[in-house]
Amino acid sequence: MKSTRFDRIPAALQKHIHQRLGTWFDQHKRPMLWRNTHDPYAVWLSEVMLQQTQVATVTPYYARFLQQFPDIHALAAAPLDEILKIWAGLGYYRRAKSMHQAAQIIASTYHGIFPSTYDNMLKLPGIGRYTAGAIASIAFHETVPVLDGNVMRVLARLLLIRDNIATSQTQKRLWQIAEALVPQTNPGDFNQAMMELGATVCTPKHPRCESCPLKSFCMARQRNMQNQLPVKQRKAPTPHIEMAAVVINSPQGQLLAQRKAGGLWEHLWEFPAFELSRRNAAAASQQLFNLTGLNIKLKRLTESVTHQLTHRHLEYTIFVGTSKSKRNPLLTTALALHYESIRWISDMSDVPKSRLTEKISALSINRQQIPAAKPPAAK
Ligand code: SF4
Repeated sequence: MKSTRFDRIPAALQKHIHQRLGTWFDQHKRPMLWRNTHDPYAVWLSEVMLQQTQVATVTPYYARFLQQFPDIHALAAAPLDEILKIWAGLGYYRRAKSMHQAAQIIASTYHGIFPSTYDNMLKLPGIGRYTAGAIASIAFHETVPVLDGNVMRVLARLLLIRDNIATSQTQKRLWQIAEALVPQTNPGDFNQAMMELGATVCTPKHPRCESCPLKSFCMARQRNMQNQLPVKQRKAPTPHIEMAAVVINSPQGQLLAQRKAGGLWEHLWEFPAFELSRRNAAAASQQLFNLTGLNIKLKRLTESVTHQLTHRHLEYTIFVGTSKSKRNPLLTTALALHYESIRWISDMSDVPKSRLTEKISALSINRQQIPAAKPPAAK
């Protein structure tokens, strides 16, 4: 489809958009804990937690996090494990690690005072263009835009942008439009209003155009094309990967492994897991022996757990076993590709872990098992 170029929005029209959207936002914004503050630390926390995560999920995490780490100094001084424990279940754990690193930089470089400019925020780990724009406009009233999925959708429909919004070229164009549109007065409210409109009215499916404050300016609505925009590239099918998660109890505790830095679930503890194409207890026992040197008879649970990542669909078959030996597991080279440590842990609540691990733990208790396989012959 050809694009309709309408990137220079006339000043008079911009003014109408600001007025209509501002009035609508005052009347219709959803109450949220972080809307009562201009504290950059709290705004930062809310924006980071809201990335890829629903408002309802974030709300209790936000409150607990602020209670435990009320300011930059508290966050900077906390051990990463404590932060990950509060974050556990929220997913995308690298966000928490980056916040910790950024808090330490702010504590040491800026005496614990959040940098007040968009440009300085961008120098901090984990703060990109969107997050810096949100904090700078909401907490410091700097005239900078935000562009998330909601704003992209509103702009694409409002201005009848028919290009694929997933391309860097269109993204660049949308940033330029957002930058030109953000007002000097109350830029933070305007940015929040655009996001709120996309989240509650200009929704991906069945936008409620009749209730939209921008309906009289909307080019997609005029052409009845709102359901065809924005154009997004069709995604390649997500690969499905079969995994085995091994839950082993022993007198020393449960066998847990800590994920390596730089990858998925970094620094979190989990039941050792590995790819396994055969859902077979003998194959799982053999692989466990190969990876850890532990020779343990495993049983397969009938129920499995699925976990959807951005680019992969993981399905975990759960195997359970008991070890009476006091032998410690080995961190073999193959295991060390994903884990930095593996050991018996007497109390799982002592370590940070993902919601997936908690789910596997719950399933491993009192669930139906498929008969045991023989342990592999020791090498
Ligand atoms: S009129 Fe409809 S399509 Fe246009 S911005 Fe409003 S909700 Fe979105």
